[in-house]
Amino acid sequence: MNDCVFCKIIAGEIPAKIYYRDDDVVVFADISPQTPVHALVAPRRHIEDVEALALEDAALVGRLILAAQQVARDLDVAPSGYRLIANSGRDSGQLVPHLHFHLLGGRPLSPHLG
Ligand code: 5GP
Ligand code: ZN
Repeated sequence: MNDCVFCKIIAGEIPAKIYYRDDDVVVFADISPQTPVHALVAPRRHIEDVEALALEDAALVGRLILAAQQVARDLDVAPSGYRLIANSGRDSGQLVPHLHFHLLGGRPLSPHLG
């Protein structure tokens, strides 16, 4: 999708601090961090949201979560803990329609999830 900001980051057309990349997954710093560690874990392939996932994407979803685990370890928030969340669709407030998990950590997080 040509006008997708995350596709542009993944293609290197928009700069971002990249924490991790492999053939399928890219993890980069959120431009407006809400916690000391705030990374975005996204597939290279443009998938709009969780709703758009299919059974054939199961391995990719696992790779996304394991990439988040790797970055949490690399950024040293694994010992203290972290949160992985994915917004999907209008009520979630999803701003960028390219599937991603937020990796949040570096301080105790609010217990309020919704
Ligand atoms: P959403 O609301 O879609 O779950 O989250 C989108 C996230 O993308 C937000 O936390 C926002 O700060 C981040 N974001 C939006 N535009 C950019 C950008 O151009 N670069 C980076 N690194 N993050 C962005
Ligand atoms: Zn995209």
